[in-house]
Amino acid sequence: MAFRQLIRLVWGVVGLVGISLALACGWPRYPDFSAEARAYFSAIKANDQPLKAPRTGEWRHENHEPGQTLEQYQELAITRPDSVHRTLYLLPIGHFSPLQKKVLEATRQYLQHFFQLPVTLLAAVPDTFVPKAARRRGIEGQEQLLAPYILTHRLAGKLPPDGLTLMALSSRDLYPKPEWNYVFGLASYPDRVGVTSLYRLQDTRLTAANYTRCLTRLINLSSHELGHMFSLRHCTFARCVMNGTNSLAETDGTPNRLCSECQSKLYWTCRYNNRQRLLALHTFFQSHQLKADASLASRDLKRLPAVTRP
Ligand SMILES: [Zn+2]
Ligand SMILES: [Zn+2]
Repeated sequence: MAFRQLIRLVWGVVGLVGISLALACGWPRYPDFSAEARAYFSAIKANDQPLKAPRTGEWRHENHEPGQTLEQYQELAITRPDSVHRTLYLLPIGHFSPLQKKVLEATRQYLQHFFQLPVTLLAAVPDTFVPKAARRRGIEGQEQLLAPYILTHRLAGKLPPDGLTLMALSSRDLYPKPEWNYVFGLASYPDRVGVTSLYRLQDTRLTAANYTRCLTRLINLSSHELGHMFSLRHCTFARCVMNGTNSLAETDGTPNRLCSECQSKLYWTCRYNNRQRLLALHTFFQSHQLKADASLASRDLKRLPAVTRP
C-alpha cells in the first residue's frame, strides 16, 4: 500500500513538473497556433508593460473586472471573418470639416492594418439620422446623441451583406443614459455594432496643431470599441489598448499596442500574418508621427526571430 502511494506521489510530482515546464516553454499555451504565431507571441510577450496601481477615479480603481484569458476567450461563440463576411464598416454621422474627413480616412487605414481586414468608410449621414427624442443639450450647452439608441435603432441589423461590424463615428458628443454626462463610445458585443465620438478628441476644434493628438485618440478609441465587437473584454494583464479608461487623460496614457494576450485573441479569431500586421502598424505610426507607438512597434519588431527563406 505504502509503495503504491509513493508511486502515485512520484507520478503526481512528475506531472506537475511537466506542466510547469511546458507552461514555462510557452507550450501548450497556443495549441492550435501556427509555429510562426507561437514564435511571434513568445517573442513579443517580453515587451508587455506592467500596469501601474490605479489611482482614485481611474477605471480599474472604480471597476474590478476579472480580465479575460485567451482560453476564456476561446470558449465564447465568436463570429470569425470568412470569405464573405469580412468588411468592417465605418459610418460617419454629422458634418465633418476637411481636416476631420482626413482624420476619419487615416483611422480607416489604421483599422485596416490593426484588424488585417478591409475597412470601408461609408458616406456621412446627417444628424437627423438620430431623432430629437434621442438627443439633448449637455451641461456645456453642446448637442448630445443617445449612444444606445444609435446602436439599437440605427445600426443593429443594418450590417451590409459582406459586413462583419458596423461602427458609427459621430461628430457630436454622446451620452449613454440620462444620469451620465457623456461617453466616448459604446459597443454591442452580440450585434457587432458600435459608436465612437470625435467631439471630445479634438480639444474643442480640430486644427493642424492638434491633428496628431486627435488621430492617436481616435485610433485608440475606435480600435478599442471594435475590439469589443470581436468579443475582447477589458484587459487587466498589461498596458494595452483594451484597458478600460474613465477619462481622456487615462486614454491618453494608454498605448495603441494590444498586449500579447489580447493580440493572441485577435489572431485566434482573424488568423492573419502577425509579422505583416506589426510591420504595417509600425509604418503607419512612423508616417503619422505617432512616436511613442512607433517605438513600441519597433521594440516588438526587434524581438521577432529572423525570417528564414528557402
Ligand atoms: Zn471598453
Ligand atoms: Zn491586453
